[in-house]
Amino acid sequence: MCWRGTDHCNEILMTSPTFLPRAGETGSDGVLTLRTLPSVDALLNLPELQHAIAGHGRAPVKRAIQASLAALRKSLAADASSDDARMDRLLAAIDARLVADALPRLRRVFNLTGTLIHTNLGRSPLAETAIAALVDAARHPVTIEYQLASGERGERDEITEQLLCELTGAEAATVVNNNAAAVLLVLSALAAGREVPISRGELIEIGGSFRIPDIMAMAGCKLVEVGTTNRTHLRDYANAVNEHTAMLTRIHASNYAIVGFTASASEQELGALARENALPFFVDLGSGALVPFERYGLPHEQLPQESLRAGASVVSISGDKLLGGPQAGIILGKKSLIDRIRKHPLKRALRCDKLIVGALEATLRIYRDHADDPEQLASLLPALRLMNREPAAIRATGERLLPALRQAFGERAAVTLQASRSQIGSGSLPVDRLDSWSLVITPAGRRSGHGTAAIASALRALPVPVIGRVKDGAVWLDLRTLEQDTEFLQQLTHLKLSANA
Ligand SMILES: *Cc1c(COP(=O)(O)O)cnc(C)c1O
Repeated sequence: MCWRGTDHCNEILMTSPTFLPRAGETGSDGVLTLRTLPSVDALLNLPELQHAIAGHGRAPVKRAIQASLAALRKSLAADASSDDARMDRLLAAIDARLVADALPRLRRVFNLTGTLIHTNLGRSPLAETAIAALVDAARHPVTIEYQLASGERGERDEITEQLLCELTGAEAATVVNNNAAAVLLVLSALAAGREVPISRGELIEIGGSFRIPDIMAMAGCKLVEVGTTNRTHLRDYANAVNEHTAMLTRIHASNYAIVGFTASASEQELGALARENALPFFVDLGSGALVPFERYGLPHEQLPQESLRAGASVVSISGDKLLGGPQAGIILGKKSLIDRIRKHPLKRALRCDKLIVGALEATLRIYRDHADDPEQLASLLPALRLMNREPAAIRATGERLLPALRQAFGERAAVTLQASRSQIGSGSLPVDRLDSWSLVITPAGRRSGHGTAAIASALRALPVPVIGRVKDGAVWLDLRTLEQDTEFLQQLTHLKLSANA
């Protein structure tokens, strides 16, 4: 039902409740006991439910009735005088269940957390052309593995390989499901059964139980720890290299920073050491920027082309972090190595589907056509656009929204506009933050812990749920990522703060 998108979700939520009867309208005094609970069929025939049946269909209403009756039976068994044991409450419970069931689990939300590329909220929004390519690939047969010129079978990778090589200077490229898969595949194809020296400072967890030592074990390689957490020198790697060594590796420290008394071998040095020993040198770069971030007033973020120039023979990056494309793991490097990676059986298991390939191609084309025009690039790629928004423009959005928010919260909370800092997220530029502005909602009264939770929960219950961040006794809504502010405003009339907030 709700697959028709956001508008339909709004409709479901905004027309709820669908059929609430007025008090006294249903049966004698409306009080129910275990013995007088109506049957499923009796409820299905109630005039009050006919509107819901027409709207939702008979099967969903029946399911909601069964679940609500079961819940009520349980509550009556525990407490025969339960407050829920009234006909109007039962109908309201059925209605709430119907609405909840009609909404998809994968909901569109407003991400006002202050983290631009939020892994739990789906990372990068896609460019319009990428969305169009994705929809096209979903709707029609496409040349995912087909060469139009010859009419013969083609390779999935051919669609993006040339673009990736042009953009990064790599000899060859292959694409899998995500960067975690890319790391697993590279290690499996190039290092299974052999040793891989890794700095102790790079034995990291990237999140969601993706830990380098575990991935190494999965890939069947032997991890050889070198150096220390804060300092690893070139000689540590040199001492670890022997006839069992498969390759040298550098894992980019993306979601943390080691600061202070630190040392690490440069990619140039590692590249040279790998070459001297005829070994591949693999760099897991993670974040995947393709253009210099200095252009946007941001700190330098290492580019895959820089790692390749420095001597990396294989580099892997994410498609949906700084690159701003769909979830993908992009592997770039020497043709001989990419060929070995492509032939590994895991490649087939980890491959991307046509929707992703289409969206990735469209995203890469934007880079190819506008790489030397930072403004144009930022206007076409939402991830870059959000990073590039001027604080003054964000503040102006806040000033537009402030009166409506104050009105929506009334006496319940004070709403102010305050300077704040956004972060890019997903392990990109972890220590550096972007100047931004936030609407700060501070609950009135003393029980502020309870108050902030109630406010955050009311915002999450809006037709398009609003996700903020609780900090310093207030709910912060960072406006850097709010581009559809009219839509945001319109739904504020549906804000329902519970009475005990
Ligand atoms: C994010 C990241 C990964 C995992 O990439 P996914 O695309 O999330 O699978 C691996 N390595 C590094 C260094 C990362 O930053």
